Amino acid sequence: MASTVTSIASLPVKTLAEELITFINRAPSPFHVVDETRKRLLDAGFSELKEKEPWNVKPLQKCFVTRNQSTIIAFAVGGKFKPGNGFSMIGAHTDSPCLRVKPSSKKGKCGYLNVGVECYGGGLWNTWFDRDLTVAGRIVVQDESSVNHRLVFIRRPILRVPNLCIHLNRSANESFGPNKETEIVPVLATSIQQQIEAPITEEGDCEATAKHHPILINLLCQELDIQPAQILDFELCLADTQPATIGGALNEFIFAPRLDNQLNCFTSLKGLIGSCESEEGLENDPNIRMMLLYDHEEVGSSSAHGANSSLTEWIMRRLSAGGSQTAFEESIPKSFMISADQAHAVHPNYSEKHEENHKVALHKGPVIKYNSNQRYATNSITASIVKLIAKEVSVNLQDVVVRNDSACGSTIGPMLSAKLGLRTLDIGSPQLSMHSIREMSCTSGVKQSCLLYQGFYENFPAVDAIVTVD
Ligand SMILES: [Zn+2]
Repeated sequence: MASTVTSIASLPVKTLAEELITFINRAPSPFHVVDETRKRLLDAGFSELKEKEPWNVKPLQKCFVTRNQSTIIAFAVGGKFKPGNGFSMIGAHTDSPCLRVKPSSKKGKCGYLNVGVECYGGGLWNTWFDRDLTVAGRIVVQDESSVNHRLVFIRRPILRVPNLCIHLNRSANESFGPNKETEIVPVLATSIQQQIEAPITEEGDCEATAKHHPILINLLCQELDIQPAQILDFELCLADTQPATIGGALNEFIFAPRLDNQLNCFTSLKGLIGSCESEEGLENDPNIRMMLLYDHEEVGSSSAHGANSSLTEWIMRRLSAGGSQTAFEESIPKSFMISADQAHAVHPNYSEKHEENHKVALHKGPVIKYNSNQRYATNSITASIVKLIAKEVSVNLQDVVVRNDSACGSTIGPMLSAKLGLRTLDIGSPQLSMHSIREMSCTSGVKQSCLLYQGFYENFPAVDAIVTVD
């Protein structure tokens, strides 16, 4: 099991961190995450398959498939793969907590034009106040003969949720939890300015302008060069316009939105692509290397394209076809899933919130997450396998468990593990401010995760061959 991690290993920490920042800045919604991932896979020689068409995937082929344009699954078939062999899998999620435009968003009060928004996922909503916001997502557009969805991203601040001044909210510094229906309603414009610049009839002349402020609809239409009447529907996320950046006096931090979980989307993608380009490449691999980026993790994963859907099983069955009748069932005990999602680093101002022996540090490596109550799927076997791989590629690991008097998060790991009977490990890179509109992690974490994930794709079959547990 010689280490073949060369390309990522030779890159400076800063280069990979900057590449993640570019990825995040291009991906303000799950649809954009999938689009950016798709482009990078095409550039790396992967070809696109469609779920509705028959496949005939052969060893050494590299392909991907999307569902709903918000979930993407990519795979590279090992040169020695035959049906019944295992899958080396890394899963992450494309969605992040955010505000989303309501189906009828037109609101107004006291001369302001406001936009009604829904809270998606468990955000730290007070961080969305006083940020320079925009919208991004997808619009379903009707042309003369077809209906398709188009991505949209308005690249300037058009919305804001203003704080109430301290003079009228004296207790704001003691506690501030906004009412999610009445107090998180972004301002789009004033009616005075609208009358001066864009005198538009109040009712609007189509469904879109009747339900949403025509100013907003016109901005979207300009962006896509379409007419308001062509808009059938849309899914729009609000996003901060401040770009992600490297920061700290020693340039060791990443200040960015959506690190949970775009850091793992990006690093698993780098790991998969890197593993196909390195010296030994795919030729000797008996497994299929698979990257699975799912939508809807932040809201429980139960959707047609979430981790709790049948999608993963169906894709694995299609790739196991052509062998014996039980090829898929045989493949499961040979397979392994790394469930990659961000982890909490110890917070210097709240260190008592973290378990005494498990205070995770920035820079010190990916964090294996344990929870004997199965909020995480890691066990001693799956941890041992990943520890052996990490040693092989010289990546330091940390471990974490929550305090008994603290609630524990969860992720896609336990769900996929239970549905498929799959050996699974939960792991993530350490960060602070999880679910804030602007999170914080360390630059070295990006490289460490890239190295570990590439190392997993390259070394899992050989490491697994020496582990005997039935
Ligand atoms: Zn997450």
